[in-house]
Amino acid sequence: MAYQSTNPYDGKILASFDECDGATLEQKIAAADVCFKQVWSRKPFAERADVLSRAAAILRERTDEFARLVTLEMGKLIAQSRAEVELTAAVLDYYAEHGENFLAPEKLPTRSGEALVESSPIGVLFGVEPWNFPYYQVARFAAPNLMAGNVVMVKHASNVPQCALAYERLMQEAGAPSGAYTNLFISKDQVAQVIDDPRVRGVALTGSEAAGAIVAGRAGHNLKKSTMELGGSDAFIVLDDANLDDAVKYAVAGRMRNSGQACTASKRFIVVEAVADAFLTAFTTALGEFKAGDPLDEATKLAPLSSTAALEKLLDQVQRAVDGGALTLMGGGRADHPGAFMQPTVLSGIDRRNPTYNEEFFGPVALFFRVRDEAAAIALANDSPFGLGGSVFTRDIERGKRVASQIETGMVFINRPAMSSPELPFGGIKRSGYGRELSAAGIQEFVNKKLIRVA
Ligand code: NAP
Repeated sequence: MAYQSTNPYDGKILASFDECDGATLEQKIAAADVCFKQVWSRKPFAERADVLSRAAAILRERTDEFARLVTLEMGKLIAQSRAEVELTAAVLDYYAEHGENFLAPEKLPTRSGEALVESSPIGVLFGVEPWNFPYYQVARFAAPNLMAGNVVMVKHASNVPQCALAYERLMQEAGAPSGAYTNLFISKDQVAQVIDDPRVRGVALTGSEAAGAIVAGRAGHNLKKSTMELGGSDAFIVLDDANLDDAVKYAVAGRMRNSGQACTASKRFIVVEAVADAFLTAFTTALGEFKAGDPLDEATKLAPLSSTAALEKLLDQVQRAVDGGALTLMGGGRADHPGAFMQPTVLSGIDRRNPTYNEEFFGPVALFFRVRDEAAAIALANDSPFGLGGSVFTRDIERGKRVASQIETGMVFINRPAMSSPELPFGGIKRSGYGRELSAAGIQEFVNKKLIRVA
């Protein structure tokens, strides 16, 4: 069964769902197209905003129910699942409140007559979404685009089908008309078919580089706009004047949240020589406190990875790193617990000859680098095919900003790991993708900036 929910904590299969057949897929695309043309794009902003606000309110009323599903399907610690539900509600509320303003017609100064730019919706959009934040990632795509008057179809990751259905039901309960938000349980071939369909006008993907290259390639072939939110290998730079207690605390949080399965998790710890030993000792000590347990238990610190396949992939990657010359400073294997658990792991000695040097480690595996000074830290941070987020730790905020300006990435956080908030733009450069989600920028990606000129 292609869409299957398996609890990574105990391996139990919770639910399975059939893929959509060709006729059903056609019917869903047709319904979305009709909904766009006849219903949704004609609604005033206030009515669209009501649907989003109601969805946010339902999420807040039933946080535990939504959160539990995330934990059961992909293993996230229950407190973090609740936080994801709240963040999802915040994204919905944010666009409900600000969407109209962000898309207000803009008058342009012109030599004669009148000129204005109107932002109009473009039609049915297609999103391909990942399992690591099963509601929040969907909201980042769906909320701004629904507010703009587009309708959305979503192919969610095949290991979180119950979350996918929960999100679709949420939008229906909130009053979205049939066709405004559509979940699709479809195969990879059908993904291509949806992208090819002339009724579909834009494509957004959040996921790996491999999937991004395939989906973006197909969208490009069809001359359709796309946005790509892909992987990262974010640098976490600790300078000589950093507050080390903070640096260690946030290094742990940055690497361990969501069991390390976040695109903007801190992945490469680049520490200047003067503080490297002190940082490393405190960092490994703190990581040693993460013990595996049931992610539904509030006391658990180390949750499983999303699946046994994800664990096996990570174990293989660590092995390749070690075979290529890396040193294992801690961990390196499965945690001593049934289920898809990985030990918190720290590797050092990874240089450019290592086969994993340019790879993203998607789990609780930290790569540790000792560098001479600030300039070397910046150079190493930039020596990556990715450019998503990053952090700089220093007591001197102006110095932190100067360093941030030199890092080739989409987001830099001073004295914190990467975090996201509805009002802050999110996205990357290089192989981390293109386009932005969230903030005012996120609602502009799939609208027609139409010039209207009065002579
Ligand atoms: P993934 O394997 O690329 O899956 C993401 C989505 O793409 C899933 O819905 C998946 O469907 C689909 N997909 C995979 N291969 C496809 C293909 N050939 N054609 C069409 N669709 C395809 O990524 P993941 O392992 O689930 O997610 C982790 C990755 O996402 C990491 O690299 C992470 O950094 C990145 N990520 C980026 C962001 C960001 O905002 N930049 C946020 C979160 C995650 P199936 O499940 O059916 O394979």
